[in-house]
Amino acid sequence: MIATMKPTIPQIPDRLVVAIGGNATHPENIRGTTEEQELVAARAARSLAPLLQRHNQLILTHGNGPVVGKILLRQYYAREHVPPMRLDVCVAHSQGGIAHLMMQGLEDELNRAQYDRRVACVITRVEVDPQDPGFLHPSKPIGPFFSEEEARHLQAQLGWSMMEDAGRGWRYIVASPRPRRVLDLELIDSLSRQGIAVIAAGGGGIPVIQRADGSHCGVPAVIDKDLTSAHLANALGIETLMILTAVQKVAIHFGQPEQQWLDTVTASDMQRYMTEGHFAKGSMAPKIDAALRFLAGGGKRAIIAHLDEALPAIEGNAGTHVIAD
Ligand code: ADP
Ligand code: MG
Repeated sequence: MIATMKPTIPQIPDRLVVAIGGNATHPENIRGTTEEQELVAARAARSLAPLLQRHNQLILTHGNGPVVGKILLRQYYAREHVPPMRLDVCVAHSQGGIAHLMMQGLEDELNRAQYDRRVACVITRVEVDPQDPGFLHPSKPIGPFFSEEEARHLQAQLGWSMMEDAGRGWRYIVASPRPRRVLDLELIDSLSRQGIAVIAAGGGGIPVIQRADGSHCGVPAVIDKDLTSAHLANALGIETLMILTAVQKVAIHFGQPEQQWLDTVTASDMQRYMTEGHFAKGSMAPKIDAALRFLAGGGKRAIIAHLDEALPAIEGNAGTHVIAD
């Protein structure tokens, strides 16, 4: 299955989960045409391809925020003509669409390097607890902004819960329960052990709950992709998690004159910085939370680095490395 055409660099871990953020799939500064998204995917692929040119087990996860936001917007405009899909189905659509562009980008890079490796996407369901406190108080705003009047319409017509978001307008709000179990874990593991690079758990996974009879059904919620990535790595006993985003390193006093970039930090020091409030809610804090949970769950090294520095980061020459105490 794998033709090793490049020498394996031994210090790179041979099993890893790499999570890529919104900037790798749909940055905020693009309109969102397919051609623009192809260019974005090609750029992500250029950075990720060197990681795929190894004899390793590699699982790629990704965010879907802006993409799923646009799916919701399309549904809004088309709602008189086409019945809208429930959010879990929208997440599944986003997994497929994003993976399609990433698979193409990665395949092109691998072909250029004459490295023979397949990339597959697993549409991934993640079980959440129906009793998760997140369901009692849905608080995660997603998708586009609406006027108060539009918001009232949507609540009545589509049953969406709407909330005013920090003076910017009204948004659809959903629960954000914690990931409990990746239902498609064995499939991901099996493909990965065959040498296939696997794109999985896009957007944090499709949220599903288990019914009393043991069957599953999708629910309108979103799961944090960094938390799911940490959970997935732990469940597979993978000891390296790399989160690639839009910043070179994690900083304390971020954006202030005394800002200090972090290179290698122990989990306990990082926990202290977290408690001291150095990481912004909704952006860096969930990544640090995921990194710390991953280390507490058996992980050895969590790396947070810039998307363009995937290889230097995994080689220890870039990014912030959080290590178990
Ligand atoms: P992604 O789309 O990859 O999930 P986010 O935008 O949600 O990325 O989070 C990453 C962003 O968090 C960085 O680009 C940076 O602007 C911001 N950030 C907030 N606090 C910090 C911090 N303490 N150190 C570094 N970046 C931070
Ligand atoms: Mg984010």
